[in-house]
Amino acid sequence: MFMRTLAGASALAALALVQGCGGSDDDPPAPAPEPLARLSCTDISTAALAQGNLTITTAERISATAPSNPAQAVPAHCRVEGQLNLRNSPVDGKAYAIGFELRLPEVWNGRFFFQGGGGTDGAINPARGDVLGAGATTNALSMGFAVASTDGGHRSEAAPIVGGSLFGLDPQARVDYGYNAVGVVTTTAKNIIDRSYGRKADKSYFLGCSNGGRQAMVAGSRFADQFDGIVAGNPGFNLPQSAVQHAWDNQAFASVAPLHTDGKPIISQAFSNADMQLVADKTVQACDALDGLADGVIDNAPACKAAFKLETLTCAGAKDATCLSAAQVTALQKVFGGPKDSAGKQLYATWPFDSGVASGGWRFWKLGSSTTSVPNSLIATLGGGSLPYVFVTPPVKVPGTGTTVIDYLLGFNFDTDAPKIFATDATYTVAPMTFMTPPNPSNYSALKNRGGKMIVYHGNSDPVFSVDDTVRWYDQLRAANNGDASDFARLFTIPGMTHCSGGPATDKFDMLTAIVNWVENGTPPDAVIASARAGNADAAAWPTRTRPLCPYPQQARYKGTGSIDNAAHFTCEAPAS
Ligand code: CA
Repeated sequence: MFMRTLAGASALAALALVQGCGGSDDDPPAPAPEPLARLSCTDISTAALAQGNLTITTAERISATAPSNPAQAVPAHCRVEGQLNLRNSPVDGKAYAIGFELRLPEVWNGRFFFQGGGGTDGAINPARGDVLGAGATTNALSMGFAVASTDGGHRSEAAPIVGGSLFGLDPQARVDYGYNAVGVVTTTAKNIIDRSYGRKADKSYFLGCSNGGRQAMVAGSRFADQFDGIVAGNPGFNLPQSAVQHAWDNQAFASVAPLHTDGKPIISQAFSNADMQLVADKTVQACDALDGLADGVIDNAPACKAAFKLETLTCAGAKDATCLSAAQVTALQKVFGGPKDSAGKQLYATWPFDSGVASGGWRFWKLGSSTTSVPNSLIATLGGGSLPYVFVTPPVKVPGTGTTVIDYLLGFNFDTDAPKIFATDATYTVAPMTFMTPPNPSNYSALKNRGGKMIVYHGNSDPVFSVDDTVRWYDQLRAANNGDASDFARLFTIPGMTHCSGGPATDKFDMLTAIVNWVENGTPPDAVIASARAGNADAAAWPTRTRPLCPYPQQARYKGTGSIDNAAHFTCEAPAS
């Protein structure tokens, strides 16, 4: 049962009265609309909500659980599952709907939390509400938030490997994935919240990482009137451009990869673990002390760009463990330099060298571990489907089985194919870069003007979305706000961290508490305390370490005394100029 009280019903009537007071002073007061009856969990239904585009498929009470992983615990709550905009595609003939889940805790804290998705979405994840980052000991639902999630308007198909991207053949499914699912689910979830608790949410938040971070940045732009706080982790806010990078990377890796007996490259073996460890070690050697403390952490990332030159690793003679072949150096320079067309125009972003490039998380995305010519890196398997099916117009039907998953990427032309991420045609009337990105990324004035706040964080060793792209965005946002956006938007770059978590980093932190404190208490995140996480093998050398994450352009600085594993002995400071 919800806390359904007489006081709650009176509050609803008073709210309806206030809402009824419109028009000029001369008008007779409009009669207050009859308040709609509040719905108990099992009364939430298609008929009771009577929202034409909405079908409720489940409304069930769930008891509190306490599994061994506290981040997966749930309090007693009502789980609602539904579908919006159910339709058949005139293009591919398949049925589509925007699926969502909304979890309503019996003890509600008056807040709404939209949980971002990931990858190409395509499934409804349990709406528990990750606090972001890793290693959480609770979740938003347990804290009393009402939490929603969505499948982004389509369901992934299990096969072939590219099955998660087949929805890109349907133009509306592209737009739903890009932004529309978030918009439609938000208004629907808020309506259900209103009907269930008898009042509107006091504050609304959107938190997500990766594609969910992209969704968060898009929500803060397109749906600024719906959210008070935004947290965007490792955001792929220019995702079609980063998919172009996937093609670029695989072509670079293929140029130095050994060939399988079938004549095709074994991408994962372009660089051995030892090769990437060499790059990481040499980067740390050149850049670690630039922040004033030799601790294995590169806090002064901007200065590292000038201090570390990959070509210094080139073998003078035969390739051995102390060097990279000239071809390997060229390939990695291409990868870290970002994709360019034949005129030298940058098509995405540069990437920093950082301590995390030797970590398993970096290899998992970038190179994979396959010992055959069937690649298994995520940029090959995810990018091999999403770039042709979703991020170019018109979509390209690739078979996406076996070694063919990567064929499109290996044949991608950066002069003639790359512009297709901006293209439209008679069927696909919205360009991928339009439906995927914030419409005007340096303009968050709507969010700012209503008192909304935004926290963006990004791992410096992220292998799939470049932190350099996010820093460039934030610099543009600062420029558009007289040089300082810190009163409503802050960026935290995280040394060593790969994609959303992992890498030699302090990747355990709580951005949910940080954003709530900023939105509701006016306390800005001057530093977010992060700690090393048990289970992160990359951080095993300093298991008790805590550090401040600092708002860019500030960096963590050691005060000079005390344990270097204690955040209290660090400050956030602007880099020395
Ligand atoms: Ca250092």
